[in-house]
Amino acid sequence: MATCSKCGKNAVISLSSTKISFCPSCFLTFFEKRVRKTMRVNNLLKPDDSVAVGLSGGKDSSAAATIMKSISFKAPKSKLFAITINEGVSARKGEHVKASAALCEMLDIEHHVFSFKEELGLDMDEIVARTRELKDRTSPCSYCGVFRRSLLNRKARELGATKLVTGHHLDDEAQTGLMNFIRADLSRMARMGSEVGMIKDPNFVPRIKPLRDSPENEIDLYAKLKELPLCEESCEYATDSLRNTMKEVGALLESKHPGTFYQIVRSVDELAPILRKHYSSGTEVKIGSCSQCGELTSGELCKACELREKLGI
Ligand code: SF4
Ligand SMILES: [Zn+2]
Ligand SMILES: [Zn+2]
Repeated sequence: MATCSKCGKNAVISLSSTKISFCPSCFLTFFEKRVRKTMRVNNLLKPDDSVAVGLSGGKDSSAAATIMKSISFKAPKSKLFAITINEGVSARKGEHVKASAALCEMLDIEHHVFSFKEELGLDMDEIVARTRELKDRTSPCSYCGVFRRSLLNRKARELGATKLVTGHHLDDEAQTGLMNFIRADLSRMARMGSEVGMIKDPNFVPRIKPLRDSPENEIDLYAKLKELPLCEESCEYATDSLRNTMKEVGALLESKHPGTFYQIVRSVDELAPILRKHYSSGTEVKIGSCSQCGELTSGELCKACELREKLGI
């Protein structure tokens, strides 16, 4: 068994990109220090920010909430709370809401729960049934993701949040970068970064990603070592999407060429500011208000209202 490169105790992880090994305690210190560095270098938090964490009950957002709690101790004027969206997928039995509530109790932070059923009139089971009736081939995850993001932004704003934390990690960012290339979606590439800050508008709560430099396997270990309550129920509507293909491709690249994800994200970070200049000086992205709900959109209707119209709700 490998030994910890810091203290010589038994190691629980060897970082593939650097060959450094850590025992549990040294790993936790290393992991939290790197997240703090991500926050500091990218200036993600102001001392008086009111921070909402979009908490799904999974390991990523749960780890993000846990670390934000430890950071918020050092910023006594800041406020921290969590928002969970209950999409209403019956197979998950509300387990993600229970796990999120347990974590918030453990961290001693406020927890707000909103459901698709109450906010949209339909839960995910009903949305899927409606799309089948309509012979609509849009994937359930497209509906779910758009509605969840829209609801999270609106609720975070209504609750007074100045920042919205998401659990996106290094692997997610690398996969998203590759997907944007494959789809030739460079305007979306321009909006990538540790803070989704291209849109400066009071209606939009800036989203920050403290785990953006942290690989998924390390978040997994962090959640286990911290014994975070997590939801184990998966969703039956998960589709074989391009992201899943990217996960497989990414895992292969990372195993054969450790450090690939870091390099992809570095490339994205160099490219995004150049693309932002291009798009802000051009006419491609014009942000206005949705004629139905008033939320931000580059078209007449925001994506959530477009999908609501499709469903007839
Ligand atoms: S797998 Fe898709 S439908 Fe299910 S909760 Fe996740 S995004 Fe929603
Ligand atoms: Zn150690
Ligand atoms: Zn709208």
